[in-house]
Amino acid sequence: MNTTRSRRNVAVIGAGWAGCAAAAELARRGCDVQVYEAARVAGGRARRIELNGHALDNGQHILLGAYRDTLHVMHLVGLEPASLLMRLPLQMRYPAHGDGMQLVAPRLPAPLHMALGVLRAKGLASSDKLAMARFASAARWMDWQLNVDCSVSELLERFDQTARLTRLLWRPLCIAALNTPPERASAKVFLNVLRDSLAAKRQASDMLLPRVDLSALFPDAALAYVEKHGGTAACGVHVRQLSKDDADGRWRVQGDGIDAWHDEVIVAASPSHAQALLAGLASVPDYDYEPITTCYLQYDRQVALPHPFLALEDDPETRQWGQFVFDRGQLDPAQAGLLAVVVSSSEVAIADGHEALLSDVGAQLAHALQMPALAQPQWCKAVTEKRATFACAPNLPRPDNRTAHAGLWLAGDYTQGDYPATIEGAVRSGLRAASQLLATAQR
Ligand SMILES: Cc1cc2nc3c(=O)[nH]c(=O)nc-3n(C[C@H](O)[C@H](O)[C@H](O)COP(=O)(O)OP(=O)(O)OC[C@H]3O[C@@H](n4cnc5c(N)ncnc54)[C@H](O)[C@@H]3O)c2cc1C
Repeated sequence: MNTTRSRRNVAVIGAGWAGCAAAAELARRGCDVQVYEAARVAGGRARRIELNGHALDNGQHILLGAYRDTLHVMHLVGLEPASLLMRLPLQMRYPAHGDGMQLVAPRLPAPLHMALGVLRAKGLASSDKLAMARFASAARWMDWQLNVDCSVSELLERFDQTARLTRLLWRPLCIAALNTPPERASAKVFLNVLRDSLAAKRQASDMLLPRVDLSALFPDAALAYVEKHGGTAACGVHVRQLSKDDADGRWRVQGDGIDAWHDEVIVAASPSHAQALLAGLASVPDYDYEPITTCYLQYDRQVALPHPFLALEDDPETRQWGQFVFDRGQLDPAQAGLLAVVVSSSEVAIADGHEALLSDVGAQLAHALQMPALAQPQWCKAVTEKRATFACAPNLPRPDNRTAHAGLWLAGDYTQGDYPATIEGAVRSGLRAASQLLATAQR
C-alpha cells in the first residue's frame, strides 16, 4: 500500500506582504503553493513602481525594529535585513532652525534610551518633558491597555499632554503609525504600537529605512523561495471567481487565463478586493480608507539633508502638507538628490491635484530647510494610494483569519491583530493564516 501523502495544495491569492509571508511559510512547511497576483509586480501596497526611469516605491515606507516577524520572514527567504535596511535610533527631528524639536534616543538599554532621549530633547519645555514622563508612567501602569477604546486625542487629554508635545510628537507619530489623525484614531491600537516600540527593548524602537525598493525588500525573494520549493507564482493573473465544490470540498480558482483546483485557499487581497472575491462566502467589513501621497522631488545630486529623514510641521491653513521628508540619496547613492515627502491622510492635500500639491511641497521644503533652491526641483512626481490603509478608528471590526468555510482563510493587514495597517500587521496575519491552516487536518 502506498502510504505517502500528496503535499497540501494551497492557493494564495494576492502577493502583498501578507500573501508573500503566508506563501513562504507554507512552502517552508512542505506545501505545494500556487500564488496568484493581479499586478505585474509583487508587493501590493508596498511595492516597486517605475517613475521617470527610476525604480522607486508606490509610497515611502518606514519600518520599526519592533517588526519582528517581518525581519524573520526576510531571513527565511534568504535576505539579510541588516544590509537592506538602514537602522537608526528612534528620532523625531525637525529642521534645525527656529524652535524645531530634536528628540533622538541614545543607544542605551531600555528604558534609559527613552528617558535620556526626552531629558536631552531640544525644543521642548520642561512642562512638555514632564507631560511625556507622565504619559509613559501612566501607560506602563495600565500595561499599555485600555478596557474601553477611545480616540487618541481623548487619551492625550486624559494624560494631560501639552499642546506643543501633541503638535510636535504625538500627532505626527499617530499619523505616521496609524495613518489616521488623532481625533479619529484608536487609542488602543496607538498604545499597542507604543508598547512594542517606545516601551520595549531599545532595538525595537529603532527606525528602519529601506535601502532597496519595496518589492526587492521581501516580496520578490518570497516568490522566488516559493518556486525553489516546488510551488509557482504567477504575476499579472487577476482571480475573478472563487467557488467551492460541495462534493469534495476543493476550491476552484478562476481568472485571467487560469482555472485551477486547490485543497485550500488563502485570500490575501486588500479588504476591498477581498470583499468582491468573497461575496457570498465570507464577509469583510466595509472600512473607511485613508489615502497617502508621496511626493518625489529630484534636485542636483549635491543636495542632501542633514539626516536621512526629518519631520516637517504640516499646517493645512498655510498649505504645508508634508509631514516627513526622506533623503533617498542617503539610502541609495544612485538616488542622490532625490527627496521623498510623505503626506499621510492626504485627502485635503490632493484636493487641488498633484501639480498644486507638488508646488506647495517644494515651497514648504524651501522654507523649512532655509534652502530657496528646493522650490525649483529638476522634476517632481506625486503618487497617491487612495486606499492606502483602513482608517484606524476606535473599536474597528477586524475579521479572524479563519472563515466559516473549511479550507478558506483570510490574510491581510485588516484581519484581527494588535497592529494598524502596516507591513508588520500584514506579515503577522499571513503567518497566522499559514499556521492555522497547517494546524487543521489535511483533507
Ligand atoms: C503609501 C503607503 C505608505 C505606507 N507606509 C507604511 C509605513 O511606513 N510602514 C508600514 O509598516 N506600513 C505602511 N503602509 C501600509 C502597508 O503598506 C500595508 O499595510 C501592507 O502593505 C498591506 O499588505 P497586505 O498584504 O495586507 O495587502 P496588499 O498590499 O493590498 O496586498 C494585496 C495583494 O493582492 C492582490 N490582489 C487583490 N485582488 C486580487 C485578485 N482578485 N487576484 C489576484 N491578486 C489580487 C493585489 O494586487 C495586492 O498585490 C503604507 C501603505 C501605503 C499605501
